[in-house]
Amino acid sequence: MLKSKPRWLKAKLPTGAVYRETRETVENNSLHTVCQSAQCPNMGECWSRGTATVMILGNICTRACRFCAIDTGRPTELDLGEPARVAQAVAKMNLKHCVVTSVARDDLKDGGASVWAATIRAIRHRCPNTAVEVLTADFLGKTELLDIVLDAKPDIFNHNMETVERLHRPIRKTAKYERSLSILEHSANRGFPTKSGLMLGIGEKEDEIVDVLTDMHDAGVRIVTIGQYLQPTPGHAEIDRWVTPEEFDHWKQWGLELGFDVVESGPLVRSSYHADEQSARYNRSPESQKATA
Ligand code: SF4
Repeated sequence: MLKSKPRWLKAKLPTGAVYRETRETVENNSLHTVCQSAQCPNMGECWSRGTATVMILGNICTRACRFCAIDTGRPTELDLGEPARVAQAVAKMNLKHCVVTSVARDDLKDGGASVWAATIRAIRHRCPNTAVEVLTADFLGKTELLDIVLDAKPDIFNHNMETVERLHRPIRKTAKYERSLSILEHSANRGFPTKSGLMLGIGEKEDEIVDVLTDMHDAGVRIVTIGQYLQPTPGHAEIDRWVTPEEFDHWKQWGLELGFDVVESGPLVRSSYHADEQSARYNRSPESQKATA
C-alpha cells in the first residue's frame, strides 16, 4: 500500500460558473461522461474550461478491466436519441474540438459501431466546424466494424493500449495486446491521425515501456498520452509506484525522439486532457499534413 498522494497529483477543485454550466449541459441532455464515470481527477480543471468528454452507449461496460472505475455488467437498451443529444451538448459547450468515448459493448452484434457513426455524423451536422476525436474500444479486433466508425470520418481516432504487453491479461483481462495494436494499425493505414495512451504506475518495467511505445509507433500512432494510474477503489489493481514528473518528462522526450508527433506526458494526463491543444500541435507538425482521411 502506497503512502498518500504526492503533491504533484493535487488537482483543481470543481468550482465556478463555467463548471456549473458544463454540469447543466451534461445533465440537461441526459448524457454520461467518462469524467464522472471514471472518477477523473481533472474534472475541476476541464469542466471549468467548459470541456467534458461524453461517454456514449450507456454507462455500463461489458468488460471488467482491473484499472477502470466504470460500472460493469449487463448494459441497458440502446438509447437511439443519444447521438442527437451529444451533438446538442457539443453545440452548447461551443467546442472547437470534442472528444467522445464509449463503454465496450461486446453484447451488441456491431459492438456499437453504428451508434458511433451516427454520433459522429450528428456532431458534424450540428457543429460543422468542430473537430471530432473518438476514443473507442477494440471491436474485438473486427476491422469491418472499425470501418463503420472510420467511414463517418472522425478527425482523430484513439484507442488506448493502457499498459504494457505482460500486464494485459491481469489488468485489461479480455483485451489483447496484439488486437489493440492491429486496431491502431488499421486506422493509421487508412490515413487517420491515430492516437493511443498508457498509464504508468501499475507494475510495468522500463524496458516494457520502451517496447510498448515502439510497438505503438510502428503501428502508425502519431499522438500519445501518458499519465499516472490511480486506483479507483480498493478492489481495483493496486498502484505500484508514484511516477515522478521528471520520469514523465523523460518519456515525453524519449517518445518525441522515437518519432511521435505529439507526446503529452504527466501525472494528471488522460486521453482527453487538453485534447484540443494536442490536436493543434499535431496539425502544426509537417509530417501530419500527409495524413488525410
Ligand atoms: S481529462 Fe478527460 S476525462 Fe478527465 S475531466 Fe478532463 S475531459 Fe473529462
